[in-house]
Amino acid sequence: MSDRLLKGIGVSPGIGVGTAVVVRWSMPEVPHRVVPRARVEKEVRRLRAAIRDQKRYLEAMREKAKDRAGVDEARIFDAQIMMLEDKEFLTGVADLIRENHLAAEKAYEFKTLEVRDLWAASGNPRLKDRLADLSGVAVRVIEHLMHRGSDDLWEGITQPSVVVAKELSPGLTVQLDREHVVGLVSEEGTRTSHAAILAHSIGIPAVFGVAGAIDQIEPGTMVVMDGKRGTVLLQPTPHEIAEAQARELSRRELDAQLEEVLDQPAVTTDGLRIVLRGNVDLPDEIKPARDHRAEGVGLLRTEFLITGHTDLPSENEQAEYYARVARAFPGHPVVVRTYDLGGDKLPAPFRAPSEVNPQLGWRAIRVCLDRPEIFRTQVRAVLRAAKHGDVWLMIPLVTRIDELDRTRALVAEEAARLAREGIPAATSVPVGVMIETPAAAVMADRLAAEADFLSVGTNDLTQYTLVVDRGNARLADRFTPHDPSVLRLLNMVSDAARRAGKPASVCGEMASEPLSAFLLLGLGFETLSVAPPALPYIRWTVRQVSAARARAAAEQALGARTAEDVLDLLRLALAEAVDLRLLDPDGRLPAGRRAASLNV
Ligand code: PEP
Ligand code: MG
Repeated sequence: MSDRLLKGIGVSPGIGVGTAVVVRWSMPEVPHRVVPRARVEKEVRRLRAAIRDQKRYLEAMREKAKDRAGVDEARIFDAQIMMLEDKEFLTGVADLIRENHLAAEKAYEFKTLEVRDLWAASGNPRLKDRLADLSGVAVRVIEHLMHRGSDDLWEGITQPSVVVAKELSPGLTVQLDREHVVGLVSEEGTRTSHAAILAHSIGIPAVFGVAGAIDQIEPGTMVVMDGKRGTVLLQPTPHEIAEAQARELSRRELDAQLEEVLDQPAVTTDGLRIVLRGNVDLPDEIKPARDHRAEGVGLLRTEFLITGHTDLPSENEQAEYYARVARAFPGHPVVVRTYDLGGDKLPAPFRAPSEVNPQLGWRAIRVCLDRPEIFRTQVRAVLRAAKHGDVWLMIPLVTRIDELDRTRALVAEEAARLAREGIPAATSVPVGVMIETPAAAVMADRLAAEADFLSVGTNDLTQYTLVVDRGNARLADRFTPHDPSVLRLLNMVSDAARRAGKPASVCGEMASEPLSAFLLLGLGFETLSVAPPALPYIRWTVRQVSAARARAAAEQALGARTAEDVLDLLRLALAEAVDLRLLDPDGRLPAGRRAASLNV
């Protein structure tokens, strides 16, 4: 099967079964043509006429998009019109015509290729996303200038077809006839490209980024593509088609069930209320977290304010951002984690020498405490934002209790200074520690007694407990937060917090995965902070399980020999309450060795 299976990125979910129609839509061959000096101005006028014509076309596409995809999606075409009318670009083309006497289409092609290369080489993902928009506009302008009508690519498609292309422009995508085009496959394109956004809104399954698709998929071949998994299977057997369709049915069933519990609290069948918060790494994630009814932000990562910038963010800029997040979650806490900059990703303003062992080096709270001028600015911003909501402060990678003491002292000093300066700010904020090192886990009783709250970062806790670099692909199968050693530390933390009467949550990736969330609640964690897209799955899972069963499973897990044994027993326990096949039609749940063959 492997030679029949092509892989890409699923950008619009759903299964498409049909014959492949390969469209070779690309920049036309533009002959090198120069014009006599006397005709130069005429060429410039031809260029302007082509731009006017293309503008009318884009306006028509905008109306189409409004009807088919929605008002927001229609703005994609406003952006294209801006691109089309870009003064600098058009002046560049006109200059090429005037100075080199090039025919308008050749000059336009030159300029387009120049910009294309620049965008492709920029390393800027936003510009990469817009490459198809650029080509979409250019192809039509050039075709107009060459007196070629733009073909209606979709006209000949009369039976269920999967369109295969090198690249799809938004203009082509918005015109797709959903009855006949049942799926899209393209070599280029990203999850956030405009064609992907439109395919998603119109409801056509799509897989982009399939390298070599045009050469490998013969026109007329039967294809089954899966826009969730990001796969394209050539010449599928009837069994494979049936399997794909069953998978899709499961997904739809699950989606309906997730929708049903959207506004329901995460309560176990025996009445234990679990608080579900969101992890927000970038401002874009505020909305999905709210849409999925996050009860606040359990981990507001702040590194993006620094990485990729040449200057440090100002106090005002930070205060505004933290307050904005707080206002987005009224009545719920927002936990601002102070800069977690690693030895391997120290941005320019820190100017630190490189280290032999960065993961064991100058990281996180160590950096903040050594650079108080930077830390104080962040703390002041948090205190100011706390005037607008329930804002907490959390310090990463704690290994020693004095890191908490020094942070508290610094918070108190800055609160007093703000008061003296007459700047509106809270007089204090809850200060919590992340438990992400074995040292902190072992000292959890002390830390729980002295901090206002604990939050476990299982990503780093796993890395430092198992001595496995979390980013090392070679060791990926050793990176397992289900290892009994990690579970025992988690258990110590939850015990310590309970004894001290302090809240403890888990904000590592583990909490975003249903099987592990079940384990965590069994270990006694009643607050989980998860990636926004995972919120519905965790809510749905929690509502079907009993805390008593989760506790029994966690107890067994603590006594297990290996991570595989832990996963096996968790799968078996969770399968008593939850339809795992519904939850996991794509085989994404971590599987223990035996569980996979037990088919639960
Ligand atoms: C963690 O380590 O689990 C955590 C949440 O922090 P980060 O992933 O940002 O290091
Ligand atoms: Mg961490």
